[in-house]
Amino acid sequence: MHSHVGRRGLLTPRILAALSITVILALSAASAVMVLQMRQSAWDQVGRTSQNLLEVIERAIDRNIELYDLSLQAVVEGLQNPEVEGISPTLRQLILFDRSATAQGLGSILALDAEGNVFVDSASLIPRRLRLDDRDFFRIHKERADVGLYIGQPTTTQKDGRLLIPFSRRLAYADGTFAGVIVGAMDVSYFDALLRRLSIDTSGSVALFRTDGVMLARNPSNLKTIGQNISGSAHFHHYLEAAAGHFVATAKVDNVERFYTFMHVGTRPLIINVNISTEAIRAIWQPKAIGISGVVFVLCAGMIALTLLLQRELERRVEAERAALEANGELARLAATDGLTGLPNRRHFDATFERLRSQAERSGETLSLLLIDADRFKRYNDTYGHLAGDEVLKTIGRCLKQQVNGPDEAACRIGGEEFGFLLLGTHGREVAFRAERIRQAVARMQIPHSGQDGGLVTVSIGVACITRDTGMALSQCFAAADAALYEAKRRGRNRVVMQASPDEAAASSVGVA
Ligand code: GH3
Ligand code: MG
Ligand code: MG
Repeated sequence: MHSHVGRRGLLTPRILAALSITVILALSAASAVMVLQMRQSAWDQVGRTSQNLLEVIERAIDRNIELYDLSLQAVVEGLQNPEVEGISPTLRQLILFDRSATAQGLGSILALDAEGNVFVDSASLIPRRLRLDDRDFFRIHKERADVGLYIGQPTTTQKDGRLLIPFSRRLAYADGTFAGVIVGAMDVSYFDALLRRLSIDTSGSVALFRTDGVMLARNPSNLKTIGQNISGSAHFHHYLEAAAGHFVATAKVDNVERFYTFMHVGTRPLIINVNISTEAIRAIWQPKAIGISGVVFVLCAGMIALTLLLQRELERRVEAERAALEANGELARLAATDGLTGLPNRRHFDATFERLRSQAERSGETLSLLLIDADRFKRYNDTYGHLAGDEVLKTIGRCLKQQVNGPDEAACRIGGEEFGFLLLGTHGREVAFRAERIRQAVARMQIPHSGQDGGLVTVSIGVACITRDTGMALSQCFAAADAALYEAKRRGRNRVVMQASPDEAAASSVGVA
C-alpha cells in the first residue's frame, strides 16, 4: 500500500511540505486574527469603562452645581426683591440662605456690592470686612451681563489654606445695571473626594477642568496642579472639538502615551477626562497574546519537525522501494541468465523466440533458428576434465555473444553443450552465411581437442527458418533445426546444415571445414 502511495505521488515530500505550510499559515493567520481581536476588545473595554465612569461623574457634578446654582439664584432673586429690603437681618438671612447652601463641602455665600465689598454673609449676621473687586469673577460680571453662573479661578483661603472654587452670579438693578456679585465656593476637596471614589489604574488619572484649561480637581490629587492652566498642552484642542470623545496622546511631562476619554459637564464650561496609559491597556491583552503566540509557535515548530520526519520517512520508503525494484530487476535478470556463460537461458530464449516470431509475422520477414552443439564434448570432458569443459563452454558463449547484431538477434545456452541463435530479417543464403561465420568463429578459437578430427574444439549447426508461408510453432522449428543438427553430426560434424526445404527430402550441407 505504501509503495502505491509513493509511486502515485499522492503523498510526496513536496505535497507534504505544501500541506504543512498551509496548515502553519492558517494557524498563524487564525492566531493573528485572535490577537488583533483581543487587542481590539481590550481597547473597547477600556473605552466603554472610561465612558461609563465619566457619565457617572458628569451627572453628579452637574447635579451638584445645579443645586448650588439654585441657592445662588435664590440669593440673587431675594436681594433683587424690593420686599426683602428693610426687613430684619435675621429674617433676611433665613430668606436668602437655605440649608443646602451651607451643606458640607460648600463655603459661605457672600453678596458683594458694585465696589466689591461684602454686604451680606451667609456665615454671619455681621458681614466680614472684605473687598473682592480684584477677583476674576467680580471683573467678569461687572464687564458682562450675560455670563450667568461663572466658575472662577480656584483660590486658597487665607484662614485655613483650603482650596476653593468660586461660583458666582451677577446682581443687577431693575434697569439691568451692575449692582454686585453673589459668590459662593465649593471646596476642591469635595471634587477630589468625588473623583477619588473611582478606582483608576495607577498609571491613569481623572481630572476636572474649565474649558479654558484651568484645572479644578484631579485624582490622584495633586494640589500643585489645581488652578494651573493646561490649555497650553499639545493635545488640549481635542477637548474643544466635541462634547465627548477620546484620543491617544503622549504627555510632555512624563513622556507617557495615554488613552484619553473626555466629556463636557452638561452645558457648563467644564470638562472631565479620564486617561489610562496605553501600556496598562497593553497589559490587559499582551500576556494572553504572548501565551497564544507561544502555543502557536510550539505547534508550528512541532508541525515542521513532524513534516521533516515524515519527509525523511517517505524518502526512505521511496529509496527502499527503488532498491527493492532494482533487486527484483536483478533477480529477473538472474532468472533469465545462464550462470556459466552469462548468456540468456532457455526460458528467456523461448520468450525472445515468441517476440521475434510475432514481429516476423507482422513484417513478413524470415526468422531463423540455429541450434549449435559442441562436437564430441563428452570426450573433451573425459580428456581435459569437467572444469576445462566449463571454460570451453564459456568461451563458446563469448564467441556467440560477439556474433549477435542488434535487438533482432539473440544467442542463448539451451542446455549442456548446446546453444541457440535467433536471426530475424536475414534471408536465404545470408542465413547459411551467418551460421557458417559462427561455426568458423568457434573454430578460430583454436582450443585443442585431441578427441575431435582436426584436433580443435568445433561446433555443428542445424538451421531452421520460419517464413510467413511455413508459420511454424517453436516446437516444430526446434524439431526441424534439431533434425538439421543431427544431419550435420551424421555427416561428420563441424559443419552447418540447413533444414530440408519442403520439396527437398534431405537436408543440404552448405559448409565443411
Ligand atoms: P556429439 O558430437 O555427438 O554432440 O558428442 P557429445 O559428446 O558432444 O554428445 P553427448 O550428448 O554424448 O555428450 C554431451 C556431453 O556434454 C556430456 C556432458 O559431459 C557434457 N556436458 C553437458 N553439460 C556440460 C557442462 O555444463 N559442463 C561440462 N564441462 N560438460 C558438459
Ligand atoms: Mg549435445
Ligand atoms: Mg555435442
